[in-house]
Amino acid sequence: MKIDTKCVQAGYTPKSGEPRVLPIVQSTTFRYGSSAEMAKLFDLEQDGYFYTRLANPTNDAVAAKIAALEGGVMAVLTGSGQAATFFSLFNICQAGDHIVASAAIYGGTYNLLAVTMSRMGIEVTFVDPDWDADRLQAAFRPNTKAMFAESVANPALIVLDFEKFAAVAHANGVPLVVDNTFPTPINCRPFDFGADIVIHSTTKYMDGHATTIGGVVVDSGNFDWMAHPDAFPGLTTPDPSYHGIVYAEKFGKEAYIRKIVVQLMRDLGAVQSPVNAFYLNAGLDTLALRMERHCRNAETVANYLAGDDRVSWVNYPTLPGSRYEALAKKYMPNGTCGVISFGVKGGREAAERFMDALRLAALVTHVADVRTCVLHPASTTHRQMTNGQLAECKISPDLVRLSVGIEDVSDIIADLDQALSKV
Ligand SMILES: *Cc1c(COP(=O)(O)O)cnc(C)c1O
Repeated sequence: MKIDTKCVQAGYTPKSGEPRVLPIVQSTTFRYGSSAEMAKLFDLEQDGYFYTRLANPTNDAVAAKIAALEGGVMAVLTGSGQAATFFSLFNICQAGDHIVASAAIYGGTYNLLAVTMSRMGIEVTFVDPDWDADRLQAAFRPNTKAMFAESVANPALIVLDFEKFAAVAHANGVPLVVDNTFPTPINCRPFDFGADIVIHSTTKYMDGHATTIGGVVVDSGNFDWMAHPDAFPGLTTPDPSYHGIVYAEKFGKEAYIRKIVVQLMRDLGAVQSPVNAFYLNAGLDTLALRMERHCRNAETVANYLAGDDRVSWVNYPTLPGSRYEALAKKYMPNGTCGVISFGVKGGREAAERFMDALRLAALVTHVADVRTCVLHPASTTHRQMTNGQLAECKISPDLVRLSVGIEDVSDIIADLDQALSKV
């Protein structure tokens, strides 16, 4: 099946007489005939549902659809994108370990890594994604367990050089974990370029309608944990909380996601509700259609802004002359995403006046949904950062993040025009 077909058809195939649309299994628990049968589930000797904190049929169908879209072997939904990022890394890191991460990432991820995970004893070194392989290599240590980056950085819109990052990660015996939220698998499939694990904030384009917070972790199944038995003891040595099973031996290519489900979900519980998974699935049905329109509209708006002398600079990966044009063409030939960043002449104050004058484009803490919206990262999502940290993340104080929706593009441009005239 082509990817547009998978958006609609993958993950759930009803048998004769069953509902055509994926049902919401709104049940915390599942009934069994005997204690012996149930014990087998608890010992991981048999697959089956018993408690929705660990697994639920609605969630599993939606996770399977996303795994199919990404070309992965298995996926698990999480309660939010933040939970997906945390689980993707905490599944293979523990106190005393180290992560190498691109500095050009979502502000929430930066805080998670730099503050919260470091408090748990997991250290991080941030790198500039534009550094060459030798400089990236210098950030690695013997205790490094993962490399992390965003395929198109929010909000800096830097396109990741996947092959460069994957080569450095693999030379150090660690997986490359990629946040693919912005391009979605419609525009970019990181597993084709060497990434091992993909995460998403499904809150963004995947749901697409700004109704549902959620996340997903997808595994390619390509990283060989057993080739590095000392580095990833959580996967390659017995788990005392399950009578000593060894995930990589028992579950093979599914080991990484299975461990998240039976261990991290069991203990930390950041599960997605089945109702939210149902909404997410409805969003996924139209993902391919929407991404096409988001990208077409964004390209038109980026060109309009680039030609307007009230605008000081525009950053959109496929804008002619953009620093990331070649990488975007190589890794995302059909388009990147609907997000543009730009500066208004007059700096930070002018940017605020411009945003306050918008009528159609709403000022919201959100991005990547059907309605056009704007945000000023320096005073909101990245507010906790110092000017130095902002520069490291490639966010200038005047940066306006514009998330172009699927409205008629002439209405979007008319709104930007009238707001620019009020600056
Ligand atoms: C929003 C976002 C997140 C966090 O996701 P939530 O669903 O808000 O928890 C992570 N990464 C990127 C790129 C995002 O845009």
